[in-house]
Amino acid sequence: MHANADIDPSPRRRHRVLRGGATLLGVLWALPLTLPGLLLGLAIVLWRGRLRFERAGPALIIRGPFADFLLAHHPFGAMSAMAIGHLIIAEQQGMTRQILTHELTHVRQAALWGIFFPFAYLAASLWARLRGRDAYWHNVFEIAARKAERH
Ligand SMILES: [Zn+2]
Repeated sequence: MHANADIDPSPRRRHRVLRGGATLLGVLWALPLTLPGLLLGLAIVLWRGRLRFERAGPALIIRGPFADFLLAHHPFGAMSAMAIGHLIIAEQQGMTRQILTHELTHVRQAALWGIFFPFAYLAASLWARLRGRDAYWHNVFEIAARKAERH
């Protein structure tokens, strides 16, 4: 008998295929967030912006003067980056490894929650407020992202 690698993949290869499948499902599941974000991303890129692909998300990282403007006027206060589905809108000056890790955590949260993520995020902010805490700082999704930064 001859084991065909295509029919009988090694456990490591099978694991990679499974992970690739899960990533693809996450990308599709978060598409209702990513697609509207792409309109914003397009506006940023067209206005002297840049974009690059980050495999670790996966995510598209978009920067430019318009991104700087949007981040400076974020409703939660000035931000250095923000994730929308599988997009990361970042300042022109770039992101530290720490900020990238933080935003990639939000990308993974979006891949997990899909269309429900904005609602879950707002509910978490509301929950924090109801307990007299800060809507942003004590939001469980932000706590998880900050925790990921430290690893
Ligand atoms: Zn965050």
